[in-house]
Amino acid sequence: MPFEYIKMDKEALKFIDTIEEISGSNVYLCYDCGKCSSGCAFVYKMDLTVNQVISYIKTGQKEKVLSANSPWVCSSCLTCTVRCPREVDIAAVMEAVREYTLRNEPERLKRIELTDEMKKNLPNIALVGSYRKKSEL
Ligand code: SF4
Ligand code: SF4
Repeated sequence: MPFEYIKMDKEALKFIDTIEEISGSNVYLCYDCGKCSSGCAFVYKMDLTVNQVISYIKTGQKEKVLSANSPWVCSSCLTCTVRCPREVDIAAVMEAVREYTLRNEPERLKRIELTDEMKKNLPNIALVGSYRKKSEL
């Protein structure tokens, strides 16, 4: 596999700082064990695994992180956070990526009315995750 050289410029460092500031978690603690991905019930729907998201954040690869669907598929179930041996609050980092995106691209947030049919098919975790994201527990 060819090596990929990563440029850590000011913008990349600013991105990492902002994600850490919003999440309150230090992504540099991650040592890429993959335990977060292996326990995530939704990773099969993600285009980047959970540890890949963390890895791209700590190397400042902003475009890869922001173009991934993974933070939006994440339901904030906290499984990864409690499993992480390095105490990275991964669920908070995923939330921080969503927050970062919406601060910079508010048009990404589209409010839609759910039909009764859609409500019947929503997984319970969507309701729990939505409540958790919007409440101040
Ligand atoms: S479980 Fe923690 S240390 Fe392991 S890859 Fe995920 S974030 Fe990194
Ligand atoms: S909080 Fe998100 S990323 Fe973590 S295990 Fe749950 S769904 Fe997966």
